Amino acid sequence: MTTIAFIGLGHMGGPMAANLVKAGHRVHGYDIVAASREAAAANGVAIAASAAEAVAASEVVITMLPAGKHVVAVWKEILPAARAGTLFIDSSTIDVESARRAHAMAHEAGMDAVDAPVSGGVGGAQAATLTFMAGGTDGAFARAKPILEAMGKRIVHCGPAGNGQAAKICNNMILGISMIGVCEAFALAEKLGLSHQALFDVASTSSGQCWSLTTYCPVPGPVPTSPANNGYKPGFSAELMLKDLRLSQDAALASGAATPLGAAAAQLYALYAGAGHGGEDFSGIIHFLRGLAGV
Ligand code: NAD
Repeated sequence: MTTIAFIGLGHMGGPMAANLVKAGHRVHGYDIVAASREAAAANGVAIAASAAEAVAASEVVITMLPAGKHVVAVWKEILPAARAGTLFIDSSTIDVESARRAHAMAHEAGMDAVDAPVSGGVGGAQAATLTFMAGGTDGAFARAKPILEAMGKRIVHCGPAGNGQAAKICNNMILGISMIGVCEAFALAEKLGLSHQALFDVASTSSGQCWSLTTYCPVPGPVPTSPANNGYKPGFSAELMLKDLRLSQDAALASGAATPLGAAAAQLYALYAGAGHGGEDFSGIIHFLRGLAGV
């Protein structure tokens, strides 16, 4: 049993903290929103009066927060409260630069740190089947792995500080681009009189095969569990996809990588979210793409 502070008990953090409790760890939680604290308490999380109080009692700290600025601010606030040698894990999706800054702050304070963003969404957080992409030293990763295993199925060490975030934004750039590609193919098939099922049957076993098609098909029917069969309720919202695509474009600009399709995907998701669909599943962009044809 490890004593763990969990800061940020939202859609993802709430069920992740609950899985740590189920695995037998003692979890001290904190969130600025009362409803999140109450939901976590109902799952066995001991709620602290502040993030610093949760951290002072713990050997491991996990943060699951909206963006880089939140992570840097919260780590700045809680690092002085931690015992020397505490392991800090950030599982939020944030920019690589903030992740590396958070690592540096932790090392200066005599702590271990790992960036460990996740893939798998709220469903994966609930089922403890998340994939973790981790960045940090071999020693810090070895300490983090057994903790992450209580919340996920695949734990991949991607290299030094920030490389977990780098893997996350590269993966999600592929996802954003591939979803738009699959949606365009279904929209074209509709114009050509080709049924959704026929396109699916061919492409899912041919060179067009990809996760956006076979697991998350953006039209109702071929994959009964995809959000298209559930009114495009997320799943993974268009605004979160836009966030991750923007992170990929910031990183491309900063590093000098050419990502023209990533840039186009970011623009399309910005238009889609800007038209009031940010809360819908990201596969719902198929409606928007059909609309661009003027029909
Ligand atoms: P969320 O908004 O539901 O949760 C974030 C929580 O952080 C909120 O409960 C908020 O009150 C809390 N918070 C904000 N500032 C705080 C502070 N200073 N101290 C304590 N708590 C604070 O978001 P989420 O969907 O749980 O996502 C969390 C992170 O995981 C994000 O970085 C997101 O990009 C990433 N992510 C989300 C998904 C998904 O499907 N939702 C999938 C993969 C990754």
